[in-house]
Amino acid sequence: MAQFAVIGLGSFGATVATELVELKHDVLGIDSNKKYVENISDVLTHAVIADATDEHVLNELNIQNCDAVVVAIGEDIEASILCVLHLKNMGIEKIWVKAKSKSHHMILSHLGIDKIIHPEEDMGVRVAQSLSYPMVSRYMSLEDDRYIVKIEVKDNLHGTRFQTICEYNPEVNVILHKRGKDLLYQVDPNLILQRGDIIVVEGHLEQLRKLSNRFK
Ligand code: ATP
Repeated sequence: MAQFAVIGLGSFGATVATELVELKHDVLGIDSNKKYVENISDVLTHAVIADATDEHVLNELNIQNCDAVVVAIGEDIEASILCVLHLKNMGIEKIWVKAKSKSHHMILSHLGIDKIIHPEEDMGVRVAQSLSYPMVSRYMSLEDDRYIVKIEVKDNLHGTRFQTICEYNPEVNVILHKRGKDLLYQVDPNLILQRGDIIVVEGHLEQLRKLSNRFK
């Protein structure tokens, strides 16, 4: 179990904090607005009404003992930057910050923040990808245009031989096949796919696009 702090409990911060609690971590939530703190105080390990631009307050909350701090102050860029400066001065190494604009992002990267989050943009990209490739339920970027992709078998491929889908894409690596609780790491090319099967593959974006078109 790790100890996290989430500063700013708007919809993004509250979601991050709640999810971390679900994952069985200790979470300190901080917001200057009483209403936001009250909304979530039952869920979090600690929830405090405080101004995170005040270094003394952050010290008193022992925030330096946290494994990582998420700064989810959106609109007030000045407050976000001031808070990040204090956290840096306190020697906290793992700081994740939600950025609101390009200039906010630039300042944060100059301050040495390596994890800058753009939730709206990230979500926009994900929504567009899901609309474009509805059979791709999850994906993970490996950089250099390579991805790991989770594909769900729908009605249209029920009864199809696995080989007939993959034969045109030899450069895509099949990582696993899952049916119910059964996991197969060596997929038999003669396997007959069933609705609800899950296939996880790795490859270059172009190859994956071709493959996912066959799953449409
Ligand atoms: P979201 O989209 O996640 O709801 P947002 O991007 O609109 O949020 P804001 O609402 O501006 O972002 O900020 C998120 C939270 O940060 C708010 O609940 C706000 O009260 C809190 N906040 C703003 N300034 C401070 C501060 N100085 N100290 C602590 N919390 C703050």
